[in-house]
Amino acid sequence: MSLEKDLHKRSNSKCELCSNTENLIVYEVAPQKNGGLEESLLVCAVCNDQMNNPDAMEANHWRCLNDSMWSEHTPVQVVAWRMLSRLRGLGWPQDLLDMMYLEEDVLEWARSTGEGAPSEDQIIHRDSNGVIIEAGDSVVLIKDLPVKGSSMVAKRGTAVRRVSLDHENAEYIEGKVDGQQIVILTKYVKKL
Ligand SMILES: [Zn+2]
Repeated sequence: MSLEKDLHKRSNSKCELCSNTENLIVYEVAPQKNGGLEESLLVCAVCNDQMNNPDAMEANHWRCLNDSMWSEHTPVQVVAWRMLSRLRGLGWPQDLLDMMYLEEDVLEWARSTGEGAPSEDQIIHRDSNGVIIEAGDSVVLIKDLPVKGSSMVAKRGTAVRRVSLDHENAEYIEGKVDGQQIVILTKYVKKL
């Protein structure tokens, strides 16, 4: 039997990550040693696209890992671990990772692509309510904020449109208030 057929048999023709039954393809888990069933899984196009394109990731789609991380099949465990690591800044994926147990050699394989390494820590910006702020979002100030180096005060209730993020520090965003670019602490804003 071909690898694809074997995978269809193992998975009952479902995406081994999200159980989708459409547009299934073989995903070979890198790096491949011997290839084959033990290093591959059947995934749907949605999962595949998002795995290959981190910018297109929809975090909620990966709630499916809540179930699939418990798969008895090693390649599924490895991919689940990698995707959870990629998303762990959101909180719930970290909780799942904490519950997950991988044999040492499996963990080594999971880590070998660099996923989950400390240097890859994603910086996530959150507003005062813990809601994630992304570049281009609009926020409103929840406090009067004196602007450093000027006598200006950015008033509570001021909307700041199209903010940019400080990629080194999760507590800072930047945006224009009265035509002036200012740095704002995330804890003093609410996402609109
Ligand atoms: Zn899927």
